[in-house]
Amino acid sequence: MHIDVLTLFPQMFQDIFSLGIFKRAIDQKLVSLGVHNIRDYTHDKHHTADDYPYGGGAGMVLKPEPIFEAVESIERKPDVPVILLTPQGRLFSQKVAQELSQHSHLVLICGHYEGVDERVSEHLATDRLSIGDYVLSGGELAAMVVIDAVFRLVPGVLGSEASPLDDSHVGGLLEYPQYTRPAEYRGWAVPEVLLSGDHAQVDSWRREQAIRRTHKNRPELLDKAELSPEEKRLVERLRQS
Ligand code: SAM
Repeated sequence: MHIDVLTLFPQMFQDIFSLGIFKRAIDQKLVSLGVHNIRDYTHDKHHTADDYPYGGGAGMVLKPEPIFEAVESIERKPDVPVILLTPQGRLFSQKVAQELSQHSHLVLICGHYEGVDERVSEHLATDRLSIGDYVLSGGELAAMVVIDAVFRLVPGVLGSEASPLDDSHVGGLLEYPQYTRPAEYRGWAVPEVLLSGDHAQVDSWRREQAIRRTHKNRPELLDKAELSPEEKRLVERLRQS
């Protein structure tokens, strides 16, 4: 999986993916990142990438020419998604991360200032993503969120193929509580069942905890979660209690 990012601030991406699991994944050539400075595609001596908005108003708008030229300079197949990060896009989620991880190549465009000339969204981007209903000052952090969530789904990146399957949001539920040693800390004991060595009991406890936790923290997720008839009865009981 290769991701190209277009940004005014390439230095922001310098260290973030060269640590921990992503460093290993990059060294093993499972994933790679290309960071492109939008200013490198300007043609004036001041490398101007933004301009005043037509119609007036505060702030500057990123010009279309360097962004079009930067994307067009990237060697890519016609079906590679070109994604504009914008608070006006469809909401990014684990499901969208899974969808994007099926591609071998993505291009992400980071806006800044007041945003990006609308022609980029209309005639260059094939998708628009928002990481939440709030406004950041630039698309870089949003791009990093997308890259992290997508890269970790690439087979082999997490080391164990099974580990992303239990994660919160993967199956529509939040993950069950996790514990590690010591078995007792300041009088707070790890639930007995986790020490029992009985894998079937552990699985069933975890599943129930995931449902209880989802009910407590994000009850609306249960409406779409895939639940067995018995689990649906548990949800009913939780809702009534
Ligand atoms: N004026 C724009 C609006 O109201 O829609 C917001 C511009 S914002 C200050 C600057 C840039 O940050 C955007 O072009 C976008 O790339 C990025 N950005 C801000 N919030 C975002 C979000 N929630 N998700 C994704 N990108 C975001």
